[in-house]
Amino acid sequence: MDPALLDRLRASVGVAHVLTGVDLSPYVVEGRTPKAAVFPGSLEEVAAVVRHAGAAGAPILPWGGGTGAGVGAPTARTGIVLGLSRLRRLVEHEPGDLTATVEAGMTIEGLQTALRARGQWLSLDPPDAGRATVGGVLATNASGPRRHLYGTARDLLIGVTVVTADGSVVRGGGKVVKNVAGYDLPKLFIGSYGTLGVILDATFKLRPVADEERLVAVAFERVQDAGAAVRAVMASDLIPSALDLLDGPASAALALGGTPTLVVGFDGLAEQIEWQLAELAGLVKPLGGGEVTALPAGTWPRLACAARDAFDAPAAVMVLSVLPTRVADTMARGAAAARARGLPSAWAAHAGVGTMTAALVAEPEPGGVGATLTEWRALAREGGGHATLLWAPLAMKSQVPVWDDPGPAGRLMQRIKAQLDPGNVFNPGRFVAGI
Ligand SMILES: Cc1cc2nc3c(=O)[nH]c(=O)nc-3n(C[C@H](O)[C@H](O)[C@H](O)COP(=O)(O)OP(=O)(O)OC[C@H]3O[C@@H](n4cnc5c(N)ncnc54)[C@H](O)[C@@H]3O)c2cc1C
Repeated sequence: MDPALLDRLRASVGVAHVLTGVDLSPYVVEGRTPKAAVFPGSLEEVAAVVRHAGAAGAPILPWGGGTGAGVGAPTARTGIVLGLSRLRRLVEHEPGDLTATVEAGMTIEGLQTALRARGQWLSLDPPDAGRATVGGVLATNASGPRRHLYGTARDLLIGVTVVTADGSVVRGGGKVVKNVAGYDLPKLFIGSYGTLGVILDATFKLRPVADEERLVAVAFERVQDAGAAVRAVMASDLIPSALDLLDGPASAALALGGTPTLVVGFDGLAEQIEWQLAELAGLVKPLGGGEVTALPAGTWPRLACAARDAFDAPAAVMVLSVLPTRVADTMARGAAAARARGLPSAWAAHAGVGTMTAALVAEPEPGGVGATLTEWRALAREGGGHATLLWAPLAMKSQVPVWDDPGPAGRLMQRIKAQLDPGNVFNPGRFVAGI
């Protein structure tokens, strides 16, 4: 670590907010220790850190809760972790306008608690909400089961403040739902994996908390029958807030009986929910579904992690997106591809939107992991989508690419990156197309 840079960082944020040496152990990713971890306490301090690191040619690794720190290719050079944990205030909440502005380091759970106290919520429910931060969720475009009805961050983010590579503070959008003309800058930062700049705060559209919310499960013998039930629900008058499909191992992880299970969420007025539950029971029965069983509210946050949590030590976790009509077929064929190599797998899908997570165990045949993941990616393409290797040891990432090939769009992305971050300081090499 360049001592002059360390001095400048300490002068910018205070000695107590710069970690070095053994204190860096929580920030080691894939065996790589960063040069330092820096925790600015204001927008100006973030800008100063970015300027100093940029001038010294040191990569900057934005860091929220660290739940996805290992997602993506490892950064090409060791850098400086820029932690957002001191920037975690709810800056403004206007219940009358249904908007809130929040600093990027606030956890999703912390934000929801503050909003619910005034009868509102941000309709995003990503996994690990107790640790995942607003900035991290935007940067990874994370979402959860309620995405089925409420969409993703792209539907909710109306303004953002970022620090770009030259240390400029840039505001995009604002507090009104329709903002000034121009490119939609806030959306550019969604899913950018910290490669374009540091997100400092975000302004969201909110929703009132519903009168009631229920989660129910229906067991099936075969995942294909549960898939037919998904299609029947989507073609019906029902308006579920969540429509998830779990295979046997993922269902077992949630103690739901270990058979393929359809999990459906509803919110609204009690009598509307009761009507929908009765309709659901009528729809699933002819398709081989069992009773509609109520689940405890505590099941909601565990839904998005069901596949990952099916195993103590998965060898890999992959996210696949396919057409919603292809979900059950992809799950069944993906599980069969793993089984054919002697490997157990677990699958959980937000079936109505076509995204699914699959986890794989390397016992007893570690040699089959790479081939299985490659086949899963081919299945995703066949289903009209793509796949991302969300988590795997470094050795596996060198065998199976983390990101799908973006095609000609990759060149456009590289040019956007080169414009916004010409020195390639933000998370270099982590993202798609070598960005
Ligand atoms: C095994 C596994 C399973 C997962 N399953 C799902 C899933 O089912 N659905 C889903 O939607 N997501 C999933 N994720 C992604 C997860 O939800 C995200 O990792 C999480 O939301 C990130 O929040 P964080 O605050 O912990 O970010 P971090 O882990 O700290 O950072 C994640 C990324 O965002 C960047 N970043 C963080 N904060 C900022 C900021 N303020 N400005 C700019 N860039 C920033 C970082 O540089 C990094 O690239 C999974 C991740 C893992 C590892």
